Amino acid sequence: MQSTTLHPYIAAAYRVLETGEPITQAEAYKLAELPGELVLDLASLAHKVKSRYANEAETLHACSIMNAKSGVCGENCRFCAQSRHNNASIEVYDLASEESVLIEARNCVAEGVSHFGIVTSGYGYKAITPEFQRLLGMIDRLHAELPALNVCTSLGVLGEAPAAALAAHGIAHYNINIQVAPDRYHDLIADTHTAEERIQTIKLLRKHNISVCCGGILGVGETMQERIAMIFALQELDVTVIPLNILVPIKGTPLAGKEPLSVADIVKTFAICRLAHPRKIIKFAAGRETIMKDFQGLLMLSGANGYLTGGYLTTRGRDVADDRRFASQIASFN
Ligand code: SF4
Repeated sequence: MQSTTLHPYIAAAYRVLETGEPITQAEAYKLAELPGELVLDLASLAHKVKSRYANEAETLHACSIMNAKSGVCGENCRFCAQSRHNNASIEVYDLASEESVLIEARNCVAEGVSHFGIVTSGYGYKAITPEFQRLLGMIDRLHAELPALNVCTSLGVLGEAPAAALAAHGIAHYNINIQVAPDRYHDLIADTHTAEERIQTIKLLRKHNISVCCGGILGVGETMQERIAMIFALQELDVTVIPLNILVPIKGTPLAGKEPLSVADIVKTFAICRLAHPRKIIKFAAGRETIMKDFQGLLMLSGANGYLTGGYLTTRGRDVADDRRFASQIASFN
């Protein structure tokens, strides 16, 4: 039942709870104007929408990733430690062996994580190269040895043949983020490739019936309006999972000195994302431990229903076991 004391913008958004229909972009812009003292009212609505429309697992969706090829990337993504245009100090290595990927995946299964993502640095694969063949071999090996594990990949921009091959080899989800509102990609993320190339990859994946995991990064210099534009761009792309990352400024990258977003703005963004995508899996990825710190649980009560656990590509995360305890406590709020 909706309270009569709710702010009119939030009261209007209760329609999502009643009907399951998303807010409009115009409504999202209005919700973005809410002052800090009303953010928890918005978060509460987002949590109720999540519980009613996106709670089929009755717990949080957890996944882990492995950086299977690290660094020396020719692209110039401003947030990324792996770009050779930047000067971050990271471990650099070529594609990992099948054995080492299998070991990581077994650890993932042992820790009770259902989805495991193989991630490679670089632009992507427009054709089936020998390296891409090795990746296909890894996927097959994981399916054969760990049949209960959902194998996902994040390999950058794809061409027709690699996308078709991934479909044939049965991946669970393919991750490729649009990062920001597409018309701001060139200024805020990179100019060695375009948002359109990533969008075309998403369309190709959907053509091959591959489920897409696609979201963005918050805090790279975008405005709240542009963040909302990114959230609504995802509506048109028919994605299944929406990972939201918060920029963790890394020394040696152009965004090293970037001021972190306020907790209130981050909570507001997650809540608006839930109201725009009532039924999707919305995952809290990078920035959970380092930026949100004491407030990370709040995002799980503001519309998120999943998280990336066990670390990120070039930064460490929280222990999987700690995350599991955390998830079971959060589930009691549903
Ligand atoms: S985000 Fe990916 S494409 Fe961009 S620099 Fe990093 S590894 Fe390269």
